[in-house]
Amino acid sequence: MPYNMYPEQQAIRDDVKEFCEREILPVSAEWDQMPEPRKYPFEIYRKMGDVGFIGYATPKEYGGQGRSNLDYITVIEELSYHDAAFGLLCAIGELATFSITHFGSEEQKQKYLPKCMSGEYVASFVLTEPDAGSDAAHCTTEAVETDSEYVLNGEKIFIMHGDAAHIAVVFCRIKDKPKMSAFIVETDQPGWQATTLKQKLGMRAATTARIILKDVKVPKENLLGDVGRGFRYAMTTLDGARIGVGAQAVGLSQRALDESVAYAKKRIAFGQPVAKLQAIQWMIADMSVKLEAARMMTYKAAHMQDKGEKFSFEAAQCKLFCSEVANFCVDKAMQIHAGYGYIGEFSPIEKLYRDQRVLEIYEGTSEIQRLIIAANVIGR
Ligand SMILES: Cc1cc2nc3c(=O)[nH]c(=O)nc-3n(C[C@H](O)[C@H](O)[C@H](O)COP(=O)(O)OP(=O)(O)OC[C@H]3O[C@@H](n4cnc5c(N)ncnc54)[C@H](O)[C@@H]3O)c2cc1C
Repeated sequence: MPYNMYPEQQAIRDDVKEFCEREILPVSAEWDQMPEPRKYPFEIYRKMGDVGFIGYATPKEYGGQGRSNLDYITVIEELSYHDAAFGLLCAIGELATFSITHFGSEEQKQKYLPKCMSGEYVASFVLTEPDAGSDAAHCTTEAVETDSEYVLNGEKIFIMHGDAAHIAVVFCRIKDKPKMSAFIVETDQPGWQATTLKQKLGMRAATTARIILKDVKVPKENLLGDVGRGFRYAMTTLDGARIGVGAQAVGLSQRALDESVAYAKKRIAFGQPVAKLQAIQWMIADMSVKLEAARMMTYKAAHMQDKGEKFSFEAAQCKLFCSEVANFCVDKAMQIHAGYGYIGEFSPIEKLYRDQRVLEIYEGTSEIQRLIIAANVIGR
């Protein structure tokens, strides 16, 4: 049973469990194994909106639930326990709208956020480019300002839900301005071309896209915040999102542990359950310890965010550690299940193995987290 920081956290877990058993588990394998071209699960996303999971930490006046970040990451942790791809689906709703909630004008918030929170609109966070991933500040997508609007041209890659999005927060440079800015783009504009990426290893229910922007017109009022502040908005958004990745990792690791314990108790080798073997017990002990440390780091970072403290350093520590713990736990779960872990028809371990890997890549790779952590510890 996961540790709760406060009693209501269990109520959130129970709500999410009930939702997953009703809406996700019956179709989880179908979404994972869907032949390409993949579709986006609009219906389930809408249902997540109906029960309030999207925008859990967004203020109520904009259609969110007005809950704490600790509450929000509990939702992500529990969704990820049942199916990490749907945990990601929900987390992207928060990632993509965070900049609007925190840096948008009142008009922008009123216009876009309620539709995003209800799940009527899907939103995307559009930063990465083919030649600017970790080095996102060097993106080349450009906005040209005319008398009446901005006109955007460029290419973006690896964009979660880019193929399904109704709106997108696009980060790019305005011509002749040195620093990055951000825009809210309505994706039904001519020139927005999204292609679903194929052969993705895991997290398959949540689609990922390449975006070409070809003379996409954006009204002036859709500039997000101030000119030249886009990079800061993106990095602030990613700080919070990294705690969400920690929660995905914790949920996924808990599932790997629970599956391993149950399997080890029933699998007989040499006349006894393999759970009686010290080699198996030590793997389970190590999984349990690392998982608990990961959970505490995630809750600590979310708690600091809730208190309004600086938390970039703790978010980077959380993202790095938790994603590597998930890698460890899923690997050990595979070893404990052996052949029955490697083949997907026998257990969920094969899917956990595929879903886990991206946690060490997106929202800043492990190497980038180490850079941030070292800069904080040693000084720049
Ligand atoms: C499934 C998926 C979903 C994603 N979703 C989104 C999304 O919704 N929106 C979005 O904008 N982006 C998204 N991304 C992009 C993701 O954030 C980038 O893939 C990530 O930041 C790494 O960039 P890159 O893949 O270009 O790798 P690169 O930056 O090319 O890195 C290559 C390698 O070099 C290392 N490296 C790079 N620079 C340094 C350095 N200074 N020091 C040490 N090592 C370094 C990296 O850690 C990595 O090992 C997603 C990616 C994936 C795979």
